[in-house]
Amino acid sequence: MRDAHRKTSVYENVGKQFNKAADLMRLDPHIRRILSKTTNEISVNFPVKMDDGRIKMFTGYRVQHNDTLGPYKGGLRYHPAVDIDEVRALATWMTWKSGIVDIPFGGAKGGIQFDPCVCSSSELERITRRFTFALGCNIGPEYDIPAPDVNTNAQIMAWILDTYLSTQPPHTRQANRHVVTGKPVEAGGSLGRDKATGQGVVFTIEEWAKEKGLNLDGATYTVQGFGNVGSWASRLLKAHGAKLIAVEDATGAIANEKGIDADDLTNYVAKTGGVKGYPGAKETDHKTLLSTKADIFIPAALENQITAETAPLLQVRLVAEGANGPTDPAGDDILNKKGIDILPDILCNAGGVIVSYFEWLQNKRSEFWDLGEVDSKLYKKMVSAYARVRDTAKEFNTDWRTAAYIVALRRLEKVYKERGIFP
Ligand code: NAD
Repeated sequence: MRDAHRKTSVYENVGKQFNKAADLMRLDPHIRRILSKTTNEISVNFPVKMDDGRIKMFTGYRVQHNDTLGPYKGGLRYHPAVDIDEVRALATWMTWKSGIVDIPFGGAKGGIQFDPCVCSSSELERITRRFTFALGCNIGPEYDIPAPDVNTNAQIMAWILDTYLSTQPPHTRQANRHVVTGKPVEAGGSLGRDKATGQGVVFTIEEWAKEKGLNLDGATYTVQGFGNVGSWASRLLKAHGAKLIAVEDATGAIANEKGIDADDLTNYVAKTGGVKGYPGAKETDHKTLLSTKADIFIPAALENQITAETAPLLQVRLVAEGANGPTDPAGDDILNKKGIDILPDILCNAGGVIVSYFEWLQNKRSEFWDLGEVDSKLYKKMVSAYARVRDTAKEFNTDWRTAAYIVALRRLEKVYKERGIFP
């Protein structure tokens, strides 16, 4: 993956996608004005004591885009490229996502600009706890609920939970466990949350394959990003008999036309930290990965990967967007012209926020659902969202990304009209 893409504003991409949908559906101009802005943008600078005794300053963000449909909801990212532009974009996509899959959440996102790969576990813990403390009452179980994203996981959610609860009056603590989702199961997390995003990606791929008459048994796929989303999507597709033929992550790219065992690769990555050097495949490069002929490509890493420059390379039937914002508007145009189908991020990767909603509900009700219940509820939500987007694409004779936006914007427009604008 090249880093030149970083110069492109991701938030500008969101604006272009939004305007295209708003024009087509003739979104009320007042509501358009409201939704084109974020509501709150919190930026915090905070000190952390590092292992060598030095005090380092960190910058963290939380952007709350919209809470018309419910409390702000969205992940936290730890990455050197995190900035306010990226967090604004990711927060806005969260609003659309919840609207599409019909869950009572708004959109938010946050992150800290730093490289967690060079920190010790105790430094990560102190950075996380100090960030949570700095955010203070800007997050809360009925107000703004973080979750995992790139380079954050269940352990980090547990530290956020513990820090948040420790700063609350003792008699309210038990009632606040839903301040964060994606927690370890023992700490109040939901079964199925770890695989939820990958599972949702695979549910939408199944629907697409059924409609296209493609048998997933024997179908080929390539994946960019082999973290939570990429590895789970790969493992769940393997169960259909599909063949993973190339993978790329931050450490490099690998390929094997005979197939790469996604479970074995997951174990390898857990031990080594990346796909590089995996003995069951040969080393390849970024460009070759993108040009690999396959049925399905799953981008599951960062934004702006499929662009005017790289979209012409793709030789697949479907791009299933596990990542947020992997395709920029120029890339979209090229894929559409080439006749490559796209399952847009705000539909395809919504499984994570759906199961986060289930976790939040279980915490509120002091319930604990079994995996079958979580999976079947997730399946229902994903399949009905898929059908809504498909039908809207037909109704407006448009691409699926624009259709997905229209599904969300229609819902938001309706609620704004019902409630009116205060005062
Ligand atoms: P993760 O940190 O678990 O994994 C990220 C993966 O991307 C890693 O394999 C990493 O090596 C790879 N990567 C990073 N930089 C790269 C580079 N320069 N080139 C190639 N690969 C690179 O993160 P995740 O939770 O799997 O998130 C991946 C994407 O999915 C992000 O866009 C995220 O916003 C989106 N997403 C995540 C969730 C979730 O529940 N975790 C939900 C919805 C969307």
